[in-house]
Amino acid sequence: MRMHSSVYKTTQLIKSEAGRLGFDFCGISKAEFLVEQAPLLEKWLRENKNGEMKYMENYFDKRLDPRLLLEGAKSVVSLLYNYFPAQAQTPNVPKISKYAYGKDYHEVIKEKLNEFLFSLKEKIGDFSGRAFVDSAPVMDKVWAEKSGLGWIGKNSNLINKERGSFFFIAELIIDVELVYDGPLKDYCGTCTRCIDACPTQAIVTPYVVDGSKCISYLTIELKDNIPTEFKNKMDNWAFGCDVCQDVCPWNSFSAPHQEQQFNNQNGLLNFTEQEWTEISEETFGAIFKNSAVKRTKYKGLKRNLEFLKK
Ligand code: SF4
Ligand code: SF4
Repeated sequence: MRMHSSVYKTTQLIKSEAGRLGFDFCGISKAEFLVEQAPLLEKWLRENKNGEMKYMENYFDKRLDPRLLLEGAKSVVSLLYNYFPAQAQTPNVPKISKYAYGKDYHEVIKEKLNEFLFSLKEKIGDFSGRAFVDSAPVMDKVWAEKSGLGWIGKNSNLINKERGSFFFIAELIIDVELVYDGPLKDYCGTCTRCIDACPTQAIVTPYVVDGSKCISYLTIELKDNIPTEFKNKMDNWAFGCDVCQDVCPWNSFSAPHQEQQFNNQNGLLNFTEQEWTEISEETFGAIFKNSAVKRTKYKGLKRNLEFLKK
């Protein structure tokens, strides 16, 4: 009984700390082998849906079992951090995905997760834990779904019933036993808006995105030239793509984030068509120094911008 009440208290503490650090939602699952995911992941890799994302093939076992990432792991704490911006880009210019408007989320969220672990250790004593944000070995959407934070929609994004899908997902894997949350049901129903709106028909069947056709992959991950079959289909996206999220009815519940570091600081949102076309390596370096956009490097962004030209 005493054991149970301390598990309950620690769980409450973790959830309130998550809120204090600015995470919008927190759900917890038992750290165990993802038995239902194993055949799905295998099939997805076999059919080459990962395109050039070969890192997906590494860590196959680790991706399915958090106990291989942290010895003695007992709980996966999933966290959502809102990035829906109040600001928008100038219309009719090359578009950047909303998640990349401000400072690189990896840095912002990693710092918060480290603070999270530190403050928990102060409050509950020492334990082992690892923090992850958008990290290849962790199937973040699957854990978030298992923990009741939403469901994975037909566009393959995690959708939260109260606030939609414009969230970063992060996890703490810890060797502390907690009270576990259960999954939610899927609320996509008969809707097919994301499938109908996808500019490259990358959602090949409901819930399955062919990564090698997705604009997000083509503009960020792909290292070669963008295949000519996608000419005039890019919907003016220069980095990432938000279409299947923008059209999702659950995103009518999105509310602007409160994270100052995600606000755009460098005039990027007011860039004109001409400024985009003429962007120099120097401007790129200055503007995207702290941004997730630097991932494409100047060469990659230039390739994308060139490809958009008629
Ligand atoms: S991100 Fe864009 S290209 Fe990729 S599946 Fe969604 S709508 Fe299609
Ligand atoms: S647009 Fe419709 S089908 Fe697609 S994820 Fe949203 S609710 Fe589901």
